[in-house]
Amino acid sequence: MPRTMNAVRPRQTVALLVAAGVGSRAGTGLPKQFRSVGGQAILAHAFDALSAHAGVDAIFVVLGSNQEAQAKALLGDRPISAMVEGADTRRGSVLAGLEAIEAAGGCDRILVHDAARPFLPASVVDRLLTALETAKGAIPVLPVADTLVRGIEGTMGQGVSRDRLFRVQTPQAFDFDRLLAAHRAWDCSREATDDAQILRSFGEDVALVTGDERLEKLTYPQDFARAEAQWAASRTVRVGMGYDVHRLAAQEELWLGGVLIPHDRGLVGHSDADVALHAIVDAILGALAEGDIGNHFPPSDPKWRGASSDRFLAYACERVSARGGRIDHIDLTIICEAPKIGPHRDAMRARIAQIMAVPTDRVSVKATTTERLGFAGRGEGIAAQAVATLSLPALS
Ligand code: MG
Repeated sequence: MPRTMNAVRPRQTVALLVAAGVGSRAGTGLPKQFRSVGGQAILAHAFDALSAHAGVDAIFVVLGSNQEAQAKALLGDRPISAMVEGADTRRGSVLAGLEAIEAAGGCDRILVHDAARPFLPASVVDRLLTALETAKGAIPVLPVADTLVRGIEGTMGQGVSRDRLFRVQTPQAFDFDRLLAAHRAWDCSREATDDAQILRSFGEDVALVTGDERLEKLTYPQDFARAEAQWAASRTVRVGMGYDVHRLAAQEELWLGGVLIPHDRGLVGHSDADVALHAIVDAILGALAEGDIGNHFPPSDPKWRGASSDRFLAYACERVSARGGRIDHIDLTIICEAPKIGPHRDAMRARIAQIMAVPTDRVSVKATTTERLGFAGRGEGIAAQAVATLSLPALS
């Protein structure tokens, strides 16, 4: 498997995201880490949670053989340090990841996380990293609330005391060198279901920190329905509107919705004057409550003279991503007598969706005239208005 390897600085924290599973108890043929919750792959949620934590410096992803292209498509342009091919067992996959990190220069602390646990609160990572200051390993755990019994061929056997029993989650945090040594020394005729067991049999103590219910692993079909509800409850919908007008004049190109349209006149402005894209940018900035296009790209700044408005829109989308948000829908209305918008509608939708890196079905382009009334009706200018619907994390 080709690697896109970045050198790892020493004294840093690397996350190893284990996504090499191929089987599925989740009810579809797709490995569960590639299934979607809230319109995004489980793997991508887990990656984003690690990436958003200031204490995590780099993320290595371990995949099954032939899963790299699929994972790349789902992770998009996220900053992956390397993709590593895993093994037949979870233990073997983690070891492959650790060896890849070592080959890239090693690191100080390692967080090993299962991709099937998409919702990782930052507070869990905080507790793990704090615990590592005094231990070589730390794991998040939750108490067992239900009564536990052993079953014997369908009948109830002896009860099991819940006293001092915990459910173990990931990420698990370790001193990198100790975990690598423990993995290398492990008797491969035995299997281990997590890395803490491996470190512990190497003679190190593993500290327990409080886990989080939201970190539950997604395994069965009903887990995905629960995760969808959990995702929806963790988001808030924001709506913003934008409005813009530019003057029409001869000897100008007509850029509308990111598309160059053949017409006898074009729009005048400091940039390319794409009134449709400007309205969308203002709608997005409005939903974010981050001012307007003029604040971010002052017309007084010569660097925006003649600028293609694509970059304004791409910038607004970056602001959404930086807030952990997603653009759910854009509804654009272009107001003019001429040119006719209908023949260019599909090209505009495709171009806007491309700039925003969203599916085309999230972009609506409409047009209307003003019955020859007002400046638009007299053909003196073109107006555009847009409504942007975003979802943002409910808790910031
Ligand atoms: Mg404008």
